[in-house]
Amino acid sequence: VSEQEAQHFINCIGSTPGFPKEGIIFRDFMPVLADAQALQTLMRGLEEALPVPADEFDVIAGLESRGFLIGVPLALRLGKGFVAIRKAGKLPPPTLSASYELEYGTATIEIEQQAITPGSRVLVVDDLIATGGTAQAAQQLIEASGASVAGFSFVMELTGIDIPDTIKQSHYSSLVTMP
Ligand code: AMP
Repeated sequence: VSEQEAQHFINCIGSTPGFPKEGIIFRDFMPVLADAQALQTLMRGLEEALPVPADEFDVIAGLESRGFLIGVPLALRLGKGFVAIRKAGKLPPPTLSASYELEYGTATIEIEQQAITPGSRVLVVDDLIATGGTAQAAQQLIEASGASVAGFSFVMELTGIDIPDTIKQSHYSSLVTMP
């Protein structure tokens, strides 16, 4: 990825202060998907910045819902399969669930019990890591499936928020860091 391509990609990321609530700047990567050139840069960037070599994981897990939009094309490029980690109540049983704390209340995510072959090594992908709560809960689901997390791949990472040590100490990468 050239400097010019990277700059165009960054320029495509939308920022909306005060959404979904006061004090949050919403970082929107949908305009990146809408731009043919930025989309190519995104996918090439993710491939070049993999937190571990492609032969060190077997399958990609995408986090609902923007993780699906990058997880499937990345899996196709790398010749891997894809599994979905979804918000509670969307997947047919039997499922495994993990809950985590939000600023107000809790959230629950799920995976189909048989989706991941035990023993497989999983790359977790999402558009953005903020507190890391979602990513950490995803790791719990993967481990409860008898598999392990090989690494985490994000498009964006927010500055000024402490991500959990479990993620900091594992292999993770992000393409852009922003407040
Ligand atoms: P967290 O669990 O705090 O790391 O939050 C990560 C999830 O929330 C991701 O699925 C993001 O899509 C979403 N998210 C959190 N903060 C933002 C933000 N500032 N802009 C856009 N999406 C966000």
